[in-house]
Amino acid sequence: MIDLKSLTIEKVHESLSKGEYSVTDLVTEYLKVIEEKNKNTNAYLEVYDDVFTQAKHAEEMFKNGTATLMTGIPVALKDNMLFDGHIASASSKILEKYVATYDSGVVKYLKKQGVVFIGRTNMDEFAMGSSTENSAYGVTLNPINPDYVPGGSSGGSAASVAMDGALVSLGSDTGGSIRQPAAFTGLVGLKPTYGAVSRFGIIAMASSLDQVGTLSKNVSDTQILFEAMNDYDSMDSTSVKKENRTSPTPLKKKIGIPQSFLAGGGINEEVLANFNASCEKLKNAGYELVDISLPLIKYSLAVYYIIMPAEVSSNLARLDGIRYGLSVEADKLFDVYAKSRGQGFGKEVRRRILLGTYILSHGYYDAYYNNAVKVRNAIKAELVSAFLSVDAIITPSSPFPPFKFGEKTNDPIAMYMSDLFTVPANIAGIPAISIPSGTTNDGLPLGLHIMAPYFREDILFTIGKDFEKLI
Ligand code: GLN
Repeated sequence: MIDLKSLTIEKVHESLSKGEYSVTDLVTEYLKVIEEKNKNTNAYLEVYDDVFTQAKHAEEMFKNGTATLMTGIPVALKDNMLFDGHIASASSKILEKYVATYDSGVVKYLKKQGVVFIGRTNMDEFAMGSSTENSAYGVTLNPINPDYVPGGSSGGSAASVAMDGALVSLGSDTGGSIRQPAAFTGLVGLKPTYGAVSRFGIIAMASSLDQVGTLSKNVSDTQILFEAMNDYDSMDSTSVKKENRTSPTPLKKKIGIPQSFLAGGGINEEVLANFNASCEKLKNAGYELVDISLPLIKYSLAVYYIIMPAEVSSNLARLDGIRYGLSVEADKLFDVYAKSRGQGFGKEVRRRILLGTYILSHGYYDAYYNNAVKVRNAIKAELVSAFLSVDAIITPSSPFPPFKFGEKTNDPIAMYMSDLFTVPANIAGIPAISIPSGTTNDGLPLGLHIMAPYFREDILFTIGKDFEKLI
């Protein structure tokens, strides 16, 4: 028996190096947990049939001295990441049987290092949602308390790690889809800088906002997994070459709090009390906390819900019932398109395609899309100038604690409010992390959200590690 709860990447590496157990033993333990728990949680949609072949390959790497820290580490993949020869459905009916014909950038890097991909995890369809209730394959339960949602859209990836069904997992984050589920399940969730980690082979939602990132139990595992994927990829045209990235400078030990943004209302009282307690902890750890003025940041959510659906409508246009995916037969070509898309896409996806198509239509393009892009640039500039005086900016990760199933499904605006604090980092493309910051009185997890300047993930790890010690 291996105590999976206490495992970290470094501990596993040490045990595997010493031969205390083999990769096969480790994978067997994780599969046992999945066997026992997944029928309730529905974190995984599929456990890959080649996990033991992957484990054997990792064992070879230990034998021939090519093992790295990531070799043999059990990793769960979100269902929107291509892994050659395996299904990737984006938790949609339209891609139910779609088998990837190549590896995504992140899979390619991690495969080289001999990780074991355990399976693909449930998500909101095409990553649109904040609760995993929008999956075509059923909801995922929060392993901390099964009455509550695990967050979304990477809810399955969060639940897989929180239930000890994988040591770490990958998610994608367009507006908060890694950080909010991390906060809801007591994990660390990182959205790296746009361009730091390859997006090649990730089923796109909104390409100018999407970013692959990590979910894990602590900051150290987050850092190791991030560094294993943090590379330039010529297959992703927005990937940034190493020489064009900012290099680290010493920390000022100064953190900004956008007080007037926080005072804007809509924050749950327990969340606010927890955030204030987190601020005290950071002060005790030697950080100076200052109020910063970010008058434009409050428009981030409005900008996001214009730009994101516009990009969704164009990205999803390729799913037409002809090229690949579900195809519903009909007499006329137009009906093939309409029926395949009508039956293949769920309600939230259709809502966003409609909105996005309207936003991009002749006559409205300037009024909505172009104006949103202008405000986006102004928000970026505002954040860049704020970082001249502080190392990082903190807020709660979510304005409210985990909520119950069905609580927000009939009110899309209430659901969209989940992204209030996470969306600005996607709008600007800066890195951000959610770190567990304690619980509500009912024992539901809460998170502290930290944003840093472009390519300064190191700041998130430094503050994150300092903060983690105090929780
Ligand atoms: N909750 C947000 C949305 O529904 C974020 C989704 C995401 O980051 N993929 O769009």
